[in-house]
Amino acid sequence: MSAYIGRFAPSPSGPLHFGSLIAALGSYLRAHSLNGQWLVRMEDLDPPREVAGASDNILRTLDAFGLHWHGSVLYQSQRHDAYQSCINDLLSHQQAYYCQCTRKQVQAMGGIYNGHCKSLTPLNQEGAVRVCNVAQVAQFTDVVMGQVSVDTAFASEDFIIKRRDGLYAYQLAVVLDDAFQGITEVVRGSDLLTSSCRQLSLFNQLNLPHPSWLHLPVACLEPGFKLSKQNHAQAINDKAPQASINAALQFLGQSQVDIDDVDTMLAQAVSQFDINLVPKQAEILI
Ligand code: GLU
Ligand code: ZN
Repeated sequence: MSAYIGRFAPSPSGPLHFGSLIAALGSYLRAHSLNGQWLVRMEDLDPPREVAGASDNILRTLDAFGLHWHGSVLYQSQRHDAYQSCINDLLSHQQAYYCQCTRKQVQAMGGIYNGHCKSLTPLNQEGAVRVCNVAQVAQFTDVVMGQVSVDTAFASEDFIIKRRDGLYAYQLAVVLDDAFQGITEVVRGSDLLTSSCRQLSLFNQLNLPHPSWLHLPVACLEPGFKLSKQNHAQAINDKAPQASINAALQFLGQSQVDIDDVDTMLAQAVSQFDINLVPKQAEILI
């Protein structure tokens, strides 16, 4: 079996908050408890949603929490050539096509794209790019959540891999980068649980070995509303990481650690980490 490589992949749309700390700490503890590597990837794919300075701010916070990463940070903004060359490849093999449909038109299709533009290619070479979804993965087994399934309409949709505004879609970038970085297991919040089916479809279609997935509960203020930058979740305090570490451990079902310097606290948290104690719940209200 190859060595474990995990990752934390924040989007720089604001400072780290308690919700993102859970994903950071959970993925860190899992990787270290298996003597693996823990990488950080900055998902700066969407400049309009970025906040100036957020990338550096996130990295500083990780450092202040003792969450030190292996190697150097991979920035998705540096990976456009890889994304585009994959898209060109798919297009030239009729495994992707341009789509000019508006959001409204897709809504009129019932919210799931019906392949309308597929037969128009290659006449129209503008708009969004959709993958011809051949793998159509509808289920997978999550390490914590167990069997996960999505309905077949969602599983078989030709989803967008490049947006009409020219931005690369998260689904494509995440798959190419997890493969590029040799990630063996993805640990992240359960808000991305069903996205894993799409990602697995892409891994299969591109003939890339896929990681396993381990989804953690997400912190919610109300059912269905995860703590996020959009609902103004408070940034975690870099100056007082100790209390936040124990709060995040508690959220993940883990034992508390003694208050000390962060490196000592994390070492204890790694040695105590028990994946079986992570709640098998997609959401937990805080
Ligand atoms: N960048 C995504 C986020 O911050 C996470 C993507 C992932 O872990 O696959 O929600
Ligand atoms: Zn279309």
